[in-house]
Amino acid sequence: MSISKKILKNLVCPKCKSKIHADNSIYSCENLECSSKYPVIDGIPILINEENSIFNIGDFNIHNKTTITSKNNTRLTRLKSKLLPKIGINLKAKQNYYTFLSTLVKNSSNRNVLVIGGEATGSGMESLINTNEIELIETDVSFGSRTMIICDGHDIPFENDTFDGVIVQAVLEHVVDPYRCVEEIHRVLKNDGLVYSETPFMQQVHMGRHDFTRFTHLGHRRLFRKFEEIESGAVCGPGMALAWSIQYFFLAFTKSKKIRKLIIYFTIFTSFFWKYFDYYLIDREGSYDSASGYYFFGKKSNTTLSDRDLISSYRGSQQ
Ligand SMILES: [Zn+2]
Repeated sequence: MSISKKILKNLVCPKCKSKIHADNSIYSCENLECSSKYPVIDGIPILINEENSIFNIGDFNIHNKTTITSKNNTRLTRLKSKLLPKIGINLKAKQNYYTFLSTLVKNSSNRNVLVIGGEATGSGMESLINTNEIELIETDVSFGSRTMIICDGHDIPFENDTFDGVIVQAVLEHVVDPYRCVEEIHRVLKNDGLVYSETPFMQQVHMGRHDFTRFTHLGHRRLFRKFEEIESGAVCGPGMALAWSIQYFFLAFTKSKKIRKLIIYFTIFTSFFWKYFDYYLIDREGSYDSASGYYFFGKKSNTTLSDRDLISSYRGSQQ
């Protein structure tokens, strides 16, 4: 996987957004007042603005664990993930990515899509990965099998109007300032560029210290108020939310790693079936009040959704 020259040309300094000079081993900001330098580690540029980020370039230099790393792809972990039931299910992502792709390529080819948090393949994303119709630029704040650039969503190192699409799936709960990240997404998208976002609502803390925010359906809509909505709704339903709650209820009793592991296995086998209710519930009004997570699929707009219009778009059961 390599990034096309057309996209590389649009890389900028994450700190001052000036042009950047790319070398094999170092990227240098061409603005003399800034003149920041960014290393290239194992072929991957580390384009982090340290003034604005919780990550340090040094952590990547020595391959420190930053957030998550791809699960060890051993035979045992593959076997486990095949055999063990799951307490959650994303019922919409696959279809949503088909819609995203077909909308994107409808009027033109040569489309490019920025993936924020693309260290590993997102749920249901196979259709985008297996097509030659678009160029995916996969970025993250950790090295993974699919990471092409290390960068932080708070300072996206690309020029304005670079991308035809941006994907940010299950990421915005893990950034300290989701509003700033969405401003950045808006900036790097071309006019009428598409955005696809998923964020959790009824989910307990995951990824430990890197978990900050939850959004209701309307809260998520407001986050993207400078976008016109194409579609939105629940991706993971109330059944999954209940299964997670049961698991985290028992986990709350102990810090012991061993007991927590036992609790996880116990709750997997006793709560996995709740997710099947989500096939029935996912599109119902009640899910807008109680889902495990929501999606927003929209188009960059020049107008901003007013808060009055926002509240009149409530779709839940509490009319
Ligand atoms: Zn600079």
